[in-house]
Amino acid sequence: MNEFALIRRYFQRDCADPAVLLGVGDDCALLKLPADEILLVSTDLLVAGRHFPMDTAPFDIGHKALAVNLSDLAAMGARPLGVTLGLALPKADADWLAGFAEGFHALAAECGVCLVGGDTVASPQLTIAVTVLGAGQAGRILRRDAAKPGDLIAVTGTLGDAGLGLRAVMTPERVPAVLPRDELDFLVARLNRPSPRLAEGQRLSVFAHAAIDISDGLVQDLTHILDASGVGAEIDATRIPLSAAARNWLQADPTLDTLPLTAGDDYELLFTLDPAHWDQVDFPATVIGSIRAEPGLVIRDAAGNPLTLSQGGFDHFAGPTA
Ligand code: ADP
Ligand code: MG
Repeated sequence: MNEFALIRRYFQRDCADPAVLLGVGDDCALLKLPADEILLVSTDLLVAGRHFPMDTAPFDIGHKALAVNLSDLAAMGARPLGVTLGLALPKADADWLAGFAEGFHALAAECGVCLVGGDTVASPQLTIAVTVLGAGQAGRILRRDAAKPGDLIAVTGTLGDAGLGLRAVMTPERVPAVLPRDELDFLVARLNRPSPRLAEGQRLSVFAHAAIDISDGLVQDLTHILDASGVGAEIDATRIPLSAAARNWLQADPTLDTLPLTAGDDYELLFTLDPAHWDQVDFPATVIGSIRAEPGLVIRDAAGNPLTLSQGGFDHFAGPTA
């Protein structure tokens, strides 16, 4: 199969979006940006063996490559306009390409976005670069630098699932025997098929202050908001929302109890808002703390004592050795 047949077979699809004037096939794609809207652009690269295990199912790779990019649009409250795909492939394996394309296009259809272009090359290392284009209204774009003292800090969904899913994939022998099969499958699906919180982000763009998607872990991503906004925060570790599967695993292995603070890849939204607007949050979300004027992040455990960062993450031993 030559390069052009490959592109036609796997990546050229009909696009029903009237704003896509021209999609795959010409030198450039043409997109109509609504009058008075801002264009948002974001790119993420995924390298096989580094960003996903080599033996990840191609469908999941296709899904996740798109999901992590759409999540960046969600984090700013934008709506997707189009997406491009750069693919560096060791070989044109038809089964792999079919699975990858299916995962990619299925999520694209679900999110109402078209693949409008890209580039395909042969290269020893499987590498995937996705660029998303989005639109938002000026003044309604959620930035990291907009948190204010007194804001509530909240997250969508549950945290720690993908981190536990990764543990299950990498070290299956360490999964507690009590964990039911369907809960284990749920955690691995949270790792491999994250849901970009686009609807939530667009809803939040009306009233929230700052937002970010949790790709690197709650503490790391919250710290980005605090640094950009020049504020501090206090969060309550006991309020971090956990799925039933995560709760069961952490109960069976209490040494992992701070994992939901630091594990990445959940792609939930972390956002701050004026407490007066909390009643407008009409989707699953949980308040975990608040923004304060004093810089720094304080995380309290069940006893109200501050947790301290150590080598492997947070622990319960506060002290100057951190
Ligand atoms: P050019 O040589 O003009 O850069 P290409 O030959 O690389 O164009 O690509 C031909 C067409 O196919 C272009 O419209 C390009 O955007 C599209 N395309 C190439 N690879 C992909 C891909 N992986 N996914 C989607 N579209 C692609
Ligand atoms: Mg060209």
